Amino acid sequence: MLRVEELTPTMRRIVLGGPELEADFPFLPLAAADSVRIVVPDEETGELTLPAPGRRDAMSTREYTARRFDAGAGELAIDFVLHAHGPAGRWASTVRAGGLLGVIGPRGSQVFPGDCDDYLLVADETGLPAIERFLEELPAEAVVRVLVLADGPARELGGGGRDADIRWLGAVPVEAVVEAVAAVPIGPGSFVWGAGEAGVMRGLRTHLRQDRTMDAERVSVRGYWREGAAGTIED
Ligand SMILES: Cc1cc2nc3c(=O)[nH]c(=O)nc-3n(C[C@H](O)[C@H](O)[C@H](O)COP(=O)(O)OP(=O)(O)OC[C@H]3O[C@@H](n4cnc5c(N)ncnc54)[C@H](O)[C@@H]3O)c2cc1C
Repeated sequence: MLRVEELTPTMRRIVLGGPELEADFPFLPLAAADSVRIVVPDEETGELTLPAPGRRDAMSTREYTARRFDAGAGELAIDFVLHAHGPAGRWASTVRAGGLLGVIGPRGSQVFPGDCDDYLLVADETGLPAIERFLEELPAEAVVRVLVLADGPARELGGGGRDADIRWLGAVPVEAVVEAVAAVPIGPGSFVWGAGEAGVMRGLRTHLRQDRTMDAERVSVRGYWREGAAGTIED
């Protein structure tokens, strides 16, 4: 780990580097939600044990978005939500330059369509790294609306001066998320991406697919964590 950049009191950008970071790390434009699996050192012994190659091991690994990769500098940035409920959240809260982190992946890329008329991005803080990548990478003429399920504006989201409509709703319950999304116009050329707590995302997905009759290929909504459950979730 090379350095820490404080984004807000609840998020830190952790910049990784070192000889093990492969120079051909696959980092594709519009694969905004591509993630790596991370392994944090054992909280008692400080030892870092990577799972055997090919094993997914949902209990010892956690998924995090590849926020930025700089091949020239050999740096990979990951933005962590800081919380004390789990080992990854605690590691990010306390790590200092020189700390070790295991990184595996990314496994495969989902490249999102860049030719839609408009994009609605809905996420809590865990989805902000992907949202910032969308803001940076979508074509300049695309209409982009963002609903952030966290208090704010906590900071200005990166996006190279794009004129996006960004609203910070707070950590509201699923009903309020659906109500806010119901007020957003959606047409045949719309694309909706969502990430956050699994129960909230399930309600959002149901609204989009059933109430708004959106086609599956126009909706990418995924639970990024589950209230009360540890480990990588399969959603
Ligand atoms: C594809 C993908 C990309 C992701 N990208 C990011 C990212 O870029 N940045 C990021 O911060 N997270 C990201 N996440 C979410 C992150 O993987 C989870 O929050 C993960 O559970 C954190 O691990 P942990 O060891 O801290 O907690 P765990 O050991 O997994 O969980 C322990 C407890 O903490 C709670 N918990 C977990 N996450 C949170 C949270 N965010 N807020 C409050 N309570 C929580 C759980 O409900 C559980 O009760 C991503 C998830 C996915 C699937």
